[in-house]
Amino acid sequence: MLIDTHAHLYYDSFKDDFDAVIKRAKDAGLKTIINIGTDLETSKKALELENPEISFYSSIGIHPEDTINLTTSESIHEHIKKLEQLYQIHTGKIIAIGECGLDYFTGRDPEVSTPLSPEAKKLQHELFVSQIELAKKLNLPLIIHCRDAWDDIFLPELEGTTGVFHSFTGSPEIAQKVLDLGYYIGLSCPVTYPKNDYLRQIITDAPLEKLLTETDCPFLPPQTMRGHRNEPANVAEVVRVIAEVRNLSFEEAAEKTYKNAQKLFSVV
Ligand SMILES: [Zn+2]
Repeated sequence: MLIDTHAHLYYDSFKDDFDAVIKRAKDAGLKTIINIGTDLETSKKALELENPEISFYSSIGIHPEDTINLTTSESIHEHIKKLEQLYQIHTGKIIAIGECGLDYFTGRDPEVSTPLSPEAKKLQHELFVSQIELAKKLNLPLIIHCRDAWDDIFLPELEGTTGVFHSFTGSPEIAQKVLDLGYYIGLSCPVTYPKNDYLRQIITDAPLEKLLTETDCPFLPPQTMRGHRNEPANVAEVVRVIAEVRNLSFEEAAEKTYKNAQKLFSVV
């Protein structure tokens, strides 16, 4: 019994073979997939996904990079209100707020990329805090995205909330901060990359009951599929690494990580 706690199956890249993707997921042992919204439109699209073979749940949220479109406090406020309305209509299927957070990444080459402006950072902060407040109001966990913003992400507003730092790529020290906050660590297919010993170290050190499995598909394929589209079936590779590192059987690792997701997201 496996769960992909972070997928974006509404992407066009799944349009042509959606049923085949779901069949492979089911054959790989998946029982549940959580589709993650990244803005108002994709939050709606995620809710429309249905399949008789696998349980689909959804999150609603606005990715920090969407501040390109939301450039005023008014527009942020407006969008948060619409997310809340979505929740009122689809309570039960919506099990989290996110993905939201901070993303200061501006390119792989520091020589040519200019750092994010203070105004852009301020807007991301406002968007993130407004979603933290929404999560508190609706009593839902948060799905947090953080890239190159570790110094700023641990906001005092997070106190009293719960959730996951998805597709975690921070250092072991940051992982400890996440755990101290009571949050979960979302593990995606980069745990299979040979160079990522630091991620396997985190799997070794963290309490097993704080680990979640995800793909973030169509992004971040496992080592065996580098350069290709990722899909939920590959969450099995994440479970395999957890099993290896923690000296468990595949079934034990699957069962334990599934239970973790059940506890955090109230999925069945
Ligand atoms: Zn994502």
